[in-house]
Amino acid sequence: MGQKSSVDPGLKPLPFQGVNPREALADIVVGDAIPTDERIWVPQAENVWFRPLCLNAGQGYWTNLLRVRRSGVLACHRHPQPVHGFVLKGRWRYLEHDWEAAEGSYVFEPPGETHTLYVPPDVEEMITFFQVNGVMYYTDPYGKNIGYEDVFTKIAMCRAHYTEVGLGETYVDQFIR
Ligand code: FE
Repeated sequence: MGQKSSVDPGLKPLPFQGVNPREALADIVVGDAIPTDERIWVPQAENVWFRPLCLNAGQGYWTNLLRVRRSGVLACHRHPQPVHGFVLKGRWRYLEHDWEAAEGSYVFEPPGETHTLYVPPDVEEMITFFQVNGVMYYTDPYGKNIGYEDVFTKIAMCRAHYTEVGLGETYVDQFIR
């Protein structure tokens, strides 16, 4: 049976006719999310860079692309809050686990997890999208704290790097909410 739709398929769908709350933040659309301009990658450690996408100061989280080139290591760190990741290119693993995250993989890092991200020498480059909540609590292999990152240190790193490469310290503002 089924009733035939009275909507002409040639017509455009009707946009929302209401008004968004005035307190709502502005959306972010990043067209060149995997940037062609090398200056947009912010150096983080040897063979490790990040590319900011959303730096949410109001809620204390950030989303970014992490790029690691062969044999790069993201130092041992603990997550008090969850992390979500999606591998866009290459593959990597944690020294603490026997699984490998390959291109197309989704990864959930639960609160309480401490691990060391490692890109094997046969992988030229890996790029992974991460949403990181709260802090990255860096430790030595025995759990002793040796530093941290949060959305504010990420913003500060971006400002310093974008100033240095000529994009200007306000370049990062477009990603901050
Ligand atoms: Fe992690």
